[in-house]
Amino acid sequence: MAGDALPVAEWLSDYDVSQITIGVVASHSSLQILHGARQEGFRTLGICVGETRRKMYSAFPGAEPDEWLILDDYKQMMDYAEYLRERNVILIPHGSLVEYLGPKNFQILSVPTFGNRNILEWEGSRERQRIWLESGGCTMPRVIEDPKDIDGPVIVKYAGAKGGRGYFVARDFRDFRRNVDLEEDFTIQEYVLGTRYYFQFFFDPLPDDGYQVDGMGSKDGQKIGRLELMSIDRRDEANVDEFYKLGSLRDLRDMGLEPSFVVTGNTPAVLRESLLPEAFRMGEGAVAASMELEGAEQGMIGPFCLETIVTDKLEFRVFEVSARIVAGSNVAVGGSPYSDINEPGISTGQRVARCIRKAIEKGRLLEILS
Ligand code: AMP
Repeated sequence: MAGDALPVAEWLSDYDVSQITIGVVASHSSLQILHGARQEGFRTLGICVGETRRKMYSAFPGAEPDEWLILDDYKQMMDYAEYLRERNVILIPHGSLVEYLGPKNFQILSVPTFGNRNILEWEGSRERQRIWLESGGCTMPRVIEDPKDIDGPVIVKYAGAKGGRGYFVARDFRDFRRNVDLEEDFTIQEYVLGTRYYFQFFFDPLPDDGYQVDGMGSKDGQKIGRLELMSIDRRDEANVDEFYKLGSLRDLRDMGLEPSFVVTGNTPAVLRESLLPEAFRMGEGAVAASMELEGAEQGMIGPFCLETIVTDKLEFRVFEVSARIVAGSNVAVGGSPYSDINEPGISTGQRVARCIRKAIEKGRLLEILS
């Protein structure tokens, strides 16, 4: 299912690893990636479409790329692979890169890329995410296969919907029928009532100290790398976050309004400390299980996020996983209550650059790229 293995070793053999440039599409979490790369001593390259975007970076000299590649369309990146390789570029992927290029192009883009691109196939489908996360010991919200079986609040999610757009809640079949767009593929999930926490983890396969992940399946009994918690955030979502101010759901419906879940920003969060062991157990399970996924054997590398809800019984439900840096980590560009304990001020962006720097020093770069 995953694309043919890319010749990363061949590309790298032409690289001057003392002159690596960190490249990123100027969007999403690029400020912290560029800033962090510079702090780790790398040259940086920003990729963008149009001058307006570039201008914004002049407001942040600490993150302004050393070099720009300005395109008419992000898909042109496919034609610039050699140009990027000639500059010893390692790309740091994020959600916008994948969205702008399209998952298929991203899979075959001929530039060394941080992390494991093959995990995309698992992250990109709700069914596969469920197989992955449940095999890692995470509990997910119940799925309702037949809309006629809706017997309590549910959330209806459209396939490929970005940032929660178009999602709606329904209490019963009538609600569902009134709102659903049958032209689209959708999933009906139990609406989990509780508090949302989005965990930004980092998995580094190289160190053998710290919170070591125990492998499972083919790696049973092996310590496979270090899991770190960089930060936790909660998404700000319009308009559901502020809906309560207008009255009950029934009042709102009388006004013709439905709650929507469009992400507009993020706020930092901390978790009740006694829940942290469970959060780590889930993160560890997700990493260990990722090594067993067909076509993605390298498993999870680098930043990933578990999106969770904690109920009033203090039970977690994981409703989604992102297998790369998430924009929620932007709440911790200057560090977080968790990452600061280990190293004040370190962001996920800098942690990525650190991982690359250490891998270069150890001659193990190939293990963290795809
Ligand atoms: P997602 O696209 O899966 O990240 O979901 C977007 C938003 O919908 C989340 O940030 C939550 O606010 C909400 N959400 C998703 N799944 C559930 C669920 N099962 N129960 C309650 N809220 C949910």
